[in-house]
Amino acid sequence: MFLSKKALSINPSLTLGLTARAKAMRAEGMDVIGFSAGEPDFDTPSHIKEAAKQAIDEGFTKYTPTSGIPELKEAICRKFKEDNRLDYEPSQIIVSCGAKHCIYNAIQATCEEGDEVILPSPYWVSYNEQIKLAGAIPVVVDTEESEDFKINPQLLSQCISNKTRLLILNSPCNPTGSIYTKAELEALAQVVVEKGIMVISDEIYEDIIYEGSQHTSIASLGPDIKALTIVVNGVSKSYSMTGWRIGYAAGDKKLISTMSNLQDHSTSNPASISQKAALAALCGTQEPVREMVLEFRKRRDYMVEQLNQVPGISLTPPQGAFYTFPSVIGILGKSFQGQTIENSMQLSELLLNKAKVVVIPGIAFGSDHHLRLSYATAMSNIIEGLNRIKAIANKIWEEN
Ligand SMILES: *Cc1c(COP(=O)(O)O)cnc(C)c1O
Repeated sequence: MFLSKKALSINPSLTLGLTARAKAMRAEGMDVIGFSAGEPDFDTPSHIKEAAKQAIDEGFTKYTPTSGIPELKEAICRKFKEDNRLDYEPSQIIVSCGAKHCIYNAIQATCEEGDEVILPSPYWVSYNEQIKLAGAIPVVVDTEESEDFKINPQLLSQCISNKTRLLILNSPCNPTGSIYTKAELEALAQVVVEKGIMVISDEIYEDIIYEGSQHTSIASLGPDIKALTIVVNGVSKSYSMTGWRIGYAAGDKKLISTMSNLQDHSTSNPASISQKAALAALCGTQEPVREMVLEFRKRRDYMVEQLNQVPGISLTPPQGAFYTFPSVIGILGKSFQGQTIENSMQLSELLLNKAKVVVIPGIAFGSDHHLRLSYATAMSNIIEGLNRIKAIANKIWEEN
């Protein structure tokens, strides 16, 4: 069978793959603890579900305008104004089938074959593959853990060429939990404006931040940077609505209408019912978000404290999102039952096979010295899973 080079160049998602394997092991009756979840483990708040039920009952089940219903776009404009001090008109907003889809459309709309996209590493898995799907080239820029895994103006300037089209920023970051400060973003924005490249700012974890940290949208730092930025956000993470598939993007009017044209001929509108649910999420009480963040914070504190006690593992507390990204460099190169653990993938395999614990190898995000553990799972699972990891680590240290 003939398959296109482009399609064959795409790697399957390691995250989804490992999660599926854990599910299969569980179905066989094994007691597997999963730290791979890329979604909140809470139910979608009931007032949001009610809005969807009402939409069905009222027959709101047909095509909508491709880029979203007007009332949802207006609610998104209000959200940007109130939360981010960003003024957009509805014509500058597109609603898509998840934030992932917004990013896909944005890259497709802005990149030509051979264009370069700057991708600070560690990065979310899909960026890399979406850049390749557009025929563009990911320019992966390694960041330092000692600098909170952030790209700085010097690094950014160094990797901009005359082929550079985009910079992808993700703050708060999946997988590291890092959050850029306003000052850091100002310094980056200066370079972006000076060089005239564009930015995709993925702000999907905006609401999931802890003590004292603040979220700033780079687009809010002035008209020049705003004109060059595509802000991406959505309801998946904030409202525990991953399955509803609603994300949105804001930016230059011409760019947004181009993204809408792409969407016209691929997915058309995101589900009408989900749009009504997203409207309820944005306009209704934000109390469930606060409760979720409080619970995440307890789990984060416990996980950070416990992981730091495991010999060979170290980490700084993540400031946002719901992942820890510990360094396991102290364990790599050691052996378990006579077999050397060479890299993050082998360590993940070992933890799955010997401890029945699912973690994502850092290599999936561009760093082979780390693991990603999600704490979007019940506290009881976190306690048990970390005990198992500790037990394996202790065996490794006895053996070496
Ligand atoms: C989950 C996630 C998304 C995608 O969210 P959807 O709205 O469900 O498509 C985008 N970016 C990052 C960094 C994520 O972790």
